[in-house]
Amino acid sequence: MRQQIEQLAQASRQLEPTPDQRQAWDTAVRGYAHGYIDSLPNGKAFHAVENPAAGLLDFPLDGQPRPMEEILAVLKKNIPTAGLNPASGGHLGYIPGGGIYPTALGDYLAAVTNEYAGIFFGGPGAVRIENMLIRWMCALIGYPKTALGNLASGGSIANLTAFVTARDFKKITSTKVRKSVIYLTEQVHHCVHKAIRIGGLAEAIVRNVPMDSRFRMDATVLAEMVGKDVADGLNPFLVVGSAGTTDTGSIDPLDKIADICQQHGLWFHVDAAYGGFFLLAEVENPDGTTVKQSLRGIEKSDSVAIDPHKGLFLAYGLGAVLIKNVKAQMEAHYYRANYMQDAFDATEELSPCDLSPELTKHWRGLRMWLPLQLYGIQPFKSALEEKIWLCRYFYQEIQKLGFEVGPYPELSVCTYRYLPGDGSDADDFNRRLVEYVQRDGRIFVSSTNIGGVFWIRLAVLCFRTHLREVDLLLGIFKNGLNALQSR
Ligand SMILES: *Cc1c(COP(=O)(O)O)cnc(C)c1O
Repeated sequence: MRQQIEQLAQASRQLEPTPDQRQAWDTAVRGYAHGYIDSLPNGKAFHAVENPAAGLLDFPLDGQPRPMEEILAVLKKNIPTAGLNPASGGHLGYIPGGGIYPTALGDYLAAVTNEYAGIFFGGPGAVRIENMLIRWMCALIGYPKTALGNLASGGSIANLTAFVTARDFKKITSTKVRKSVIYLTEQVHHCVHKAIRIGGLAEAIVRNVPMDSRFRMDATVLAEMVGKDVADGLNPFLVVGSAGTTDTGSIDPLDKIADICQQHGLWFHVDAAYGGFFLLAEVENPDGTTVKQSLRGIEKSDSVAIDPHKGLFLAYGLGAVLIKNVKAQMEAHYYRANYMQDAFDATEELSPCDLSPELTKHWRGLRMWLPLQLYGIQPFKSALEEKIWLCRYFYQEIQKLGFEVGPYPELSVCTYRYLPGDGSDADDFNRRLVEYVQRDGRIFVSSTNIGGVFWIRLAVLCFRTHLREVDLLLGIFKNGLNALQSR
């Protein structure tokens, strides 16, 4: 038997590369990565191609080993040549993020050490780093020191974790779901509706609270709706506010909503996946208030979703849920198994496995901790402020080209459309304009539909986006207008 085991070990030892092999692989991968980053300024933000990434199908998982160079060549040929390039500073659609380089280094070290970030007993350093990050974000939004939360893969899971906590804390058991009421606006991110359904609340009553002309929840109407539902014997329990909607960057009147929730004992959740980190920005609004003041009241909420892979420019894979009542979070998520009895004593730091659906998990905190330690906070603040000003600059300049605009941007998203003078269909014209920009490819913008009307969006949040990219887009629109109107 020993001989057989030794024989098997000969092949299985390949899984531990020699130092020379490690060096060779590192060099090849680093070459790819640096070449990629250096190519971004002159590359495209969007590749409109037929059969995107089809070449991968010719490279099957057939169980055969291949050299690193060959594998990287296949990636290089198929990945950055099709679809959207989220690392590009020309990505001005949806909600960009970017992917600051130290994210990759944090991920690299997390994977090499494979620290167990699920339980404090197993990975005390890893868990402590994650909890310190969560407490840092709690302090940013103004939660007390006793609050905690969880580092999730993104805003969708962060929202889900918050809703499940709210559901259990408010004791919305199956017999109560049909009489329970959730309040939100038509502008909440679609993942909010998805989380409501996945969270077992599909049969709850979901009310769309009307909005003002700037797509912000009308708090006065919210108060009336809640009052009426209570009088009618229903069970209002959750309000979802947005701190920066995806479509227009609008911020709901969080302070007023928080007061209504407090008065009626409702759980107040704020989806700040996009807008939360603008709390770091010191920017004045045209009316003399500040961006920070627009977010006031977020500290009165019960839970918040905030995405470091958006507002802190990290590569995709990190959203956070912050929850004021950590006991409620724990009651909704903890589980103890006998085989983990050795881990029982660790009570110093709460463990992610007791605060989320996950057990074994990627040590995703390191990808955020490393850049924050390396850079300090100032470059992030400056970048966020720059993004607000870039959006305001675009909002001003696009009007000079004759475009109609939506509301003045509260953060770094704005909407605009061109009304063709010849009486032709405006929605159709703007759709063709977006296609024109996407075909050009140097800059990517996306569109939305608000109240049945087609609007083009600008979303500035990639850390690589500067005046150059915004000016480039303005130039492309100018050419686009000429091209489409001369037909
Ligand atoms: C992006 C976004 C989400 C979803 O977050 P993911 O990280 O993509 O899962 C939720 N809400 C808002 C407001 C967003 O902008």
